[in-house]
Amino acid sequence: MSKSTEKAGSSGRFGTRYGVVVRNRVRDIDKMRTTDHECPRCHRTGVNRVSSGIWQCRACDAKFAAGAYSPVSKKAPVVSSTEEQGE
Ligand SMILES: [Zn+2]
Repeated sequence: MSKSTEKAGSSGRFGTRYGVVVRNRVRDIDKMRTTDHECPRCHRTGVNRVSSGIWQCRACDAKFAAGAYSPVSKKAPVVSSTEEQGE
């Protein structure tokens, strides 16, 4: 169990199972999940994931709800409903 992984990263634990696409997806999400993120309150990078969707800042102790795997969700743009195109 001490074999080092090359480019597999954290998904290296899966070995050859589940397929490359799934493994890479897990690796990317794992990376986002475990790295420090910027705090929306004190803007220092010390935010860790407490549990799915819950994040806490080490510096100012702020606890907040955000994305499951990353506190900054780039996938949800704010859609304004004022620009409706009707005929
Ligand atoms: Zn903070």
